[in-house]
Parts: sequence; structure tokens; C-alpha cells
Amino acid sequence: MKFSTIRRFIRYYRPHMKLFSLDMLCALVVSIIDLVYPSVAEKIIDSCEGLAAGTGTLTAEGILRTILLLGALLLVIYIVKMGCNMFIAYWGHVIGTRMQGHMRHDVFHHLQTLPLKYYDNTETGTIMSKVYNDLFDVSELAHHAPENFFLAGIMMIGSFVILVQKCWQLTLIIFLFVPIIVAFALFMRKRMHEAFSSCRKKTGEMNADVQNSVSGIRVTRAYTSRDHELDKFDRINGEFVAASSYRYKSMGQFHSGMTFLMDLLYLMALVGGGIFLYRGAITIGAFTAFLLYINSFLKPINMLVALFEQVQEGATGFERFLGLMDEPEEKDDPGAVAVDKVEGTIAFEHVSFDYRDQETIGDDKLLIHDLNIEIPAGKTVALVGPSGGGKTTLCHLIPRFYEISDGRILIDGQDIRSMTRDSLRANIGIVAQDVFLFNGTIRENIAYGNFNASQQEIEEAARRANIHDHIMSLPEGYDTNVGERGVRLSGGQKQRISIARAFLKNPPILILDEATSALDNATEMQIQASLEELGRGRTEIVVAHRLSTVKKADEIIVIDERGVAERGTHEELMEQDGIYAGLYRYQFREA
Ligand code: ADP
Repeated sequence: MKFSTIRRFIRYYRPHMKLFSLDMLCALVVSIIDLVYPSVAEKIIDSCEGLAAGTGTLTAEGILRTILLLGALLLVIYIVKMGCNMFIAYWGHVIGTRMQGHMRHDVFHHLQTLPLKYYDNTETGTIMSKVYNDLFDVSELAHHAPENFFLAGIMMIGSFVILVQKCWQLTLIIFLFVPIIVAFALFMRKRMHEAFSSCRKKTGEMNADVQNSVSGIRVTRAYTSRDHELDKFDRINGEFVAASSYRYKSMGQFHSGMTFLMDLLYLMALVGGGIFLYRGAITIGAFTAFLLYINSFLKPINMLVALFEQVQEGATGFERFLGLMDEPEEKDDPGAVAVDKVEGTIAFEHVSFDYRDQETIGDDKLLIHDLNIEIPAGKTVALVGPSGGGKTTLCHLIPRFYEISDGRILIDGQDIRSMTRDSLRANIGIVAQDVFLFNGTIRENIAYGNFNASQQEIEEAARRANIHDHIMSLPEGYDTNVGERGVRLSGGQKQRISIARAFLKNPPILILDEATSALDNATEMQIQASLEELGRGRTEIVVAHRLSTVKKADEIIVIDERGVAERGTHEELMEQDGIYAGLYRYQFREA
């Protein structure tokens, strides 16, 4: 882990410094208390031994009193330890959870500011995995790591100091073994890190697949493509199992290796200590204390081993979290100002754009190349042409969903880049073919147009969108839950809700992107009336393939793969007798 990563991690501790310090204090008390027991045992054994050998200073009664006194002292100490352990287990986890909550807040906030391009290239499941699984591991690391590191550190240093006093030669022999353990742990570290990373990645992919599959369940049913979905899932699931198995293999090697090294350490203490005892260099009490202290020396090593895993998981999770946090946000340009309600004149001046990297594709291959359009305030421009020509894209450039590479887009003569995004977007309403409703009530969904709207305003918007009567006929009225993505409503009803949203927002600029294309003719006719009312007095950009709806536009622009192919009023284009006239005649005959 890089230093800057650690620094960013530490930043999350700041609001919890008080609790965290107390947590550390408790860890300190626990680790010191754990060092007491072997010394007490040594004292008791040596006193009894002295009495038996006739070399002790205490009488039998004195020894008994000492034993009881020490026992009582230990009992008190252990009660304190219980309290400290409770604090560590409870508040330690609470600190972790609060930090996790803080990080989740940051990541969600960041997700709200990322450009749409990020979402075009990232699967939802992967994002979910970062927000949930990864951050859980991070929070576990956040409190366990410092607690255990502290506990282990104190115990190791403490037991070392005490062991040296008991028998420094034996202590040195044992401590010479520690570098071997550290070297082994470091060697395994890299392998485990890779294994954990790959496992995380696979979890993300698997989440993405399940999410995708569940969202597409209707398509799966309709096309009876269950086997295909199963195959796809089984492949990813298999890859996950393989990655996970490799992770457990590396964990297994690590664990068994570490345990073996520690067993060797025990063995050395036993044999070495035995020899020293045999030679009379140490007392039985010291020998026993030595063995017990080896335990308090091994315990922190064990803790560090567990910590190691946690650090691996947590660090991998935190790095993935940072990866997301470091995705560049959509930022307003320097000096951008918030605009109020605009008049609504829109101008495209020599605008170029493509989703692909423009360096690698030629200028003439750009999706939008050197485009000029002028729409006076309150007028309507219709975009028509074959699918894939870039009509939707063009609409999305106005609210700056994507950044143009050349030229300028002006609203009321002002470059949209000089406006804050929020204020720009507040001036634009979009009614598109795909209506997205959030899981929630009808009221909440309409209120997306204006969160400050009163119930009356919401109802007025619904009335103008011709959906009020229908809503009122539902048992729960405006409180009816629309279901995930609005599954409980028909296409026409969803579209009316989105129109009501636009009414409520009341923007000077309106984009209708194939708003009625997914609807049947009868529904389209009804909705068309609402849309006409919605468009009144606004600057409108209408994308439609049903030309009856664009006929009245002030200008019709025909866009094909090469860019603007024709432009003019309906009459002018019919006279030109080009693409538009052909399409119109075809549809007219069809009708
Ligand atoms: P239209 O609205 O005229 O049907 P679009 O603007 O939707 O056309 O799409 C124009 C082209 O841009 C298509 O070739 C499409 O594949 C591509 N495209 C659309 N959206 C994206 C996106 N988010 N990322 C990459 N390419 C896209």
C-alpha cells in the first residue's frame, strides 16, 4: 500500500479520535494484564518450591495467604479486562461501522457526480460490490488492525523484556527465529494480495451478472433463454470458485506454514528451557513462566497473522474504493455561474462529438461533425433520420451529459460551459422513450420535477399530463407504489408520469426524444395532446420517427450517418424531394 493511500485511510479516523483513543487504551490495558499471569504463577511455584526445599522465606501459612491474595488481585484485574474487552468488541466495531458509513456516504456522493461516461463503461453489480462488500472489509480492518497491532506490539515487547530477565540466552535463541517468521509472512503477502484482488474482481463480475440477469428476467422468460443465462452464470461462477480456491490455497499455505514455524518455536523453548533447567541455570518457576511467556509471545504473532489477512482484504477493498473515488468528477468550469431561467435560444456552432477516442478516428468519421443549428426561443426543431445517426446524442449534449470536443453550444448566446451544470440542467426538461421511474410512490416520482412542489402542484401537473383521474382511481391514489422501475404501470402511464414531471419542472427548454415511439397508436394520440400542451411556450427539440408529429416543427433537420443531410420546414423539404419527402410519403402511404 502506498503512503498516500494510508494517509487517506487515516483521514477517516479523525472524527472518531476520542473513541478510538479509548479503544486503544483498552487494548493497552488488556495486553498488560495478559502479561501478569505467568509472573504470578512463577511466584507461587517458586514459593512452594522454596518451602519444599527449605530455602524459602515464607511459612506455609504465609504462602497460602499470598496465593489467595494474588488470586483476589487477579480476579479484580480480570474484571477490568472483561470491561476493556467489552469496550473493544462493542465500540471498536461501532467505530468501524461509522467509518464505513462515512466512506459509503463519500462513495455514494461521488457516484452522483461522475460523468455518464463512467456509467457507460461500468456495470452496476461492480459498483454495488464496491459499495457493500469492499467497504465492509475496510471497516473490519479499520478497527481490528490498530487494536490488534497495538495489543500484539505491547505483548511482544512486554514478554520480550520479561523473558530476557528470566534467561537472556534462551530468549536470544528464540528471538533469532522471529526474522524467519517475518520473512515467510512477507513472502506470502504478495501471493495472497493477488489472490484476494482477483477474488474481489470476480465477486464484482458475478454481482453484475446476477443484477443484469434479474433486470432482464422478462426477456429471459420471453425468449426462453434460461439455458443461455445459466451457462453464462455458471462460467462466471466457475471462475469465481477457481479464484476463491486459489485464495484459500494461498491462505492454507500461509496458515500451515506459520503454525509450523510457531510449533518449532515452542519446541525450541521446551528443549532449550529443559536443558537450562537441567543445568540448574533457572528455577522451575522461571521455566514455567518462560513457557507461559512464550505463549504470550506467540499469541501476538498469531494475532499478527490474522491481522495480515485482514489487512490484505481491507487494503484490497480500500484500494478498490479509492479507485472509484479517484474517478474524475463532473466539475463546473472555472468561473461558471449559476444562471436563472433562460429565454431558450439554442445554438450549436461547429459542434463535434464522438463517444470513441477522437484521436484514433478521422474527423469525417465523427458521429457529430461540425454541426450548426440555431433554434430561436420558443421554436421547435425536429430531428429525424435513421436510427443510430446521433439524434439522441445531440439532445444529450445540451444538458452536458457528454462533453463536446469542438465548437460551442450556446443558450441565449452564452456558452453552456460558462454555466453551472445544475443551473443549466434546471432549465431543460427531457421526456424520453425510456421512462425511468424510481421505486417509490407516484407522488415521489412526479415530485422529481420539483422536490419543493406542494400536493396541489403535483396534482395540477398530473392533471395536465392527463393521468390525475387514473391515479385517483387507484386504491392508494398518489401513494401507490410504482414497483421497481415502474413495472406496475403500463408504458403509457409511465410516460404520462414523466410528462407530469416535466410539467412540474416547467423548464424553458424541452427535449422530447422519441417520447411516444414505444406506445400504440391510440395511446400515442392521447399523449400527443399532453405533449403539445407541454411544449407550448418552450424551446423544443423533438426526435420522432412518426413524421406526423414533426410536421409542424419550425425546422426539420434530417440526420443520417454522414451528418445533417437536409434541413428546412416540412413544405421546403417536401419540395426538395429528398430523404424526408421519401420517408414522409412512405409513412403516409403506410397510414
Ligand atoms: P439515434 O438517436 O439517432 O438513434 P444515438 O445518438 O442513440 O442515435 O446513437 C448514435 C451512435 O452512438 C450509435 O452508433 C450508438 O451506437 C452510439 N452510442 C450511443 N450512445 C452511446 C454511449 N453511451 N456510448 C457509446 N456509444 C454510444
